[in-house]
Amino acid sequence: MKSNYGHVKNTHCPTCKVKLNAATGVLDSNWVARPKDMSVCINCGEILTFTDDLDLRLADLDDMLAVSNDFKQLLETAQQFIRSKRPAHESSST
Ligand SMILES: [Zn+2]
Repeated sequence: MKSNYGHVKNTHCPTCKVKLNAATGVLDSNWVARPKDMSVCINCGEILTFTDDLDLRLADLDDMLAVSNDFKQLLETAQQFIRSKRPAHESSST
């Protein structure tokens, strides 16, 4: 099957618990997940970071400081796009 998806091990989003087993390489279609790589949950738009075991955890400040502004912008754009397609029943007051 041809696709631009890099397969990662079965894991789930720590925020919305959706099952995730693939991630899209936003900058490189040959991308494969590596520890410290960042991703966006396709379901809730949460910004996530791959752990050493290629599980996913919430991105923290260190992760955000480690990436370029361009990449951060890309993550935020993806996050806004995903969240704009969801019904607004989440509390997002901040
Ligand atoms: Zn999620």
